[in-house]
Amino acid sequence: MKIPRKQFVENYAQRSGIESRFSSLGFLDCDGETLIALPCECESALCEGWAMVSPSAVDTHLRMYAPEPLKSVYSDAIKTPSPE
Ligand SMILES: [Zn+2]
Repeated sequence: MKIPRKQFVENYAQRSGIESRFSSLGFLDCDGETLIALPCECESALCEGWAMVSPSAVDTHLRMYAPEPLKSVYSDAIKTPSPE
């Protein structure tokens, strides 16, 4: 079930016991690491249409779990041009 991004971030912050002052931007500050809420279309039945992702996991998330057309657009954008 898809919920608004701000709501997802606030719920996540509450569950994790962290401050949610940047929730309207889709960010959370978690022990000095910035987490970002990205659109999600994973297989989980509990998926709320968003995932809180750490910086090191952004690339994997966008390539594996982002909904279309985001996944395709991202994959195309980072594709290494094939030599001619
Ligand atoms: Zn998901």
